[in-house]
Amino acid sequence: MNRIFSGMQPTRQLHLGNYLGALRNWVELQNSYECIFCVVDLHALTIDQDAEVLRNNIREVTAAYIAAGIDPEKNILFNQSFVPAHSELAWILSCHTPLGWLNRMTQFKEKAGKQKDMANLGLYSYPVLMAADILLYKATHVPVGEDQKQHLELARDIAGAFNRRYDTEYFPLPEPQILGEATRVMSLRDGTKKMSKSDESEYSRINMTDDADTIATKIRKAKTDPEPLPDNVADLEKRPEADNLVTIYAALSGQTREQTVQQFAGAQFSGFKAALVDLSVAKLAPMTTRMKELLDDKAEIDRLLRRGGERAAAIAETNLNGVKDIIGLLRP
Ligand code: ATP
Ligand code: MG
Repeated sequence: MNRIFSGMQPTRQLHLGNYLGALRNWVELQNSYECIFCVVDLHALTIDQDAEVLRNNIREVTAAYIAAGIDPEKNILFNQSFVPAHSELAWILSCHTPLGWLNRMTQFKEKAGKQKDMANLGLYSYPVLMAADILLYKATHVPVGEDQKQHLELARDIAGAFNRRYDTEYFPLPEPQILGEATRVMSLRDGTKKMSKSDESEYSRINMTDDADTIATKIRKAKTDPEPLPDNVADLEKRPEADNLVTIYAALSGQTREQTVQQFAGAQFSGFKAALVDLSVAKLAPMTTRMKELLDDKAEIDRLLRRGGERAAAIAETNLNGVKDIIGLLRP
């Protein structure tokens, strides 16, 4: 059986990187896999949160999933903290994970910044919780953006170590699915940095909830270089900002990057950006409208999450019990 697990953190609004790198692929994959899509609210606690804002963001990410085309009946859609087994399995797996493996994780190094001693333990053990999320459902495939590749490899390593330790094939080794033209969308302010929810600058990203004027302003202000667009993709190599805008255009329009470059060969950025604004607004506006409608009925969102959570919990409990039996935790 092929089963997908994936999630997003309810830290601020989702952006174009989340959409093009992951969410849009989920919408396709839901037709050929059994899918579990999670709003990973426990992961969001690794940065400081305001309780009311966090609650709202959990509903907003849920609404974004549905507005993008995820069917909450066909798939399991829930928020992580509803199912306590995530935390339980994370603890068990953390006791099977050498510190040296976690010390290699680049996301921790980036997010912890210079004062590593002040970073919280949750930020450090984040990848173990992520491994637990996936392995709890014995997921075989995990569609994510390119930045999560290293965490996925760790999840495979942890699954493998557990299987070897107990001489079992209990956990399948989850396969990353890094799909499409825009697996790593970059910041609009700095073409060498990933577009992120946690970036301080609002101008670094386009949010799924931005209105047409905001999208236009952000794209107009996006960093570029003075050269017109080249006529082949290879010439974008040393032009990270130009490369990023071409990638976004290609992904939104369903073209390859080559096709986009050919369409705009020799164009100035002013013209190209205007086309990119029109395309972005056309693609995002229907989702934004749908999100707003969904968020008008918070009780319905909560009801959907609870139902999804109950379905997830049933699978999680069975699989966690299996782990407890293997490792010798008594279930009296
Ligand atoms: P944060 O800055 O809080 O970590 P984030 O923008 O990285 O937020 P996540 O919730 O951590 O978003 O990631 C959700 C999904 O979106 C993951 O699959 C991740 O790989 C993908 N993703 C995040 N940023 C990008 C990006 N810039 N380009 C492509 N995919 C991305
Ligand atoms: Mg992230």
